[in-house]
Amino acid sequence: MEREIIVAKEAGFCAGVRRAVQLASDCLGNEPCKALCSLGPLIHNPSVIEELGRKGMRVLDPSLDEEAISKLPNNAKLLIRAHGVKKEQYDVLKKHALDILDGTCPHVIAIRKIIERAAKEGEPVVILGDKGHAEVTGLMSFAKEGIVVSSVTEVASLNLTKPFTVVCQSTLDSSTFESVTKEILRKYPFAKIFNTRCQATEKRQKEALSLCENCDAMVVIGGIGSANSNRLAEICRGSGKATFFVTDPPNWEPKELGPYRRIGVTAGASTPQSDIDLILSKLKSLI
Ligand code: SF4
Repeated sequence: MEREIIVAKEAGFCAGVRRAVQLASDCLGNEPCKALCSLGPLIHNPSVIEELGRKGMRVLDPSLDEEAISKLPNNAKLLIRAHGVKKEQYDVLKKHALDILDGTCPHVIAIRKIIERAAKEGEPVVILGDKGHAEVTGLMSFAKEGIVVSSVTEVASLNLTKPFTVVCQSTLDSSTFESVTKEILRKYPFAKIFNTRCQATEKRQKEALSLCENCDAMVVIGGIGSANSNRLAEICRGSGKATFFVTDPPNWEPKELGPYRRIGVTAGASTPQSDIDLILSKLKSLI
């Protein structure tokens, strides 16, 4: 069968992830660099974490309690990942005068500023996104009063009587954003809505949907813990296309794609080009 492989133009590392990985690589490649410790896995991609680990980066529990701080080497440099950390953690880092390399994505900082402004004005904040995701818990810590909502049905549990601010996790998909904010505005016309989805997310999700229209099957490459890669796979499945979510590129075999002629390929914002190239070379073996 004659096959065609179409790769999304917007696939793989976004600007925020590229910046965080570059900060780590520059530090590790620099002779006098201190012992580099990332607060939590720098990105949700095991191959990148392993590679940086081989070069000397340690991954610490992001909660970084007093005991963990006491065990840090004297020359430790602490790297904050693109998701950012909780306000309390910034306070702890400051209190102990620890040496910080801040990889927080500028877009996440912009969302944080909206939340800080609301907190200053005494307004509650509703964050649309995944409860427990590092970006969401980090952002939530800057709110005076914050609630996470992840679906339209959860809007029913809100009980707000004064103006409040609504933001969303940077990687939220547009249909969830639209449906949940529509329901919030129906119940609370005084809600102040900020669409804080990031451009990188927007472009990857839109392009994935348009590839779904033109392909017989979709391959989505990304780490199993990567929220934005999981969303890309959900979006492709939701369009009704056969979707293959590849979380372990070295051990993945393209045999399942046998029946499909036009194959679309996309990858989450934390997927390195090397993983995309590896999958493409495996797919080309089908042609
Ligand atoms: S997905 Fe968007 S917000 Fe998240 S790191 Fe990338 S550019 Fe920043």
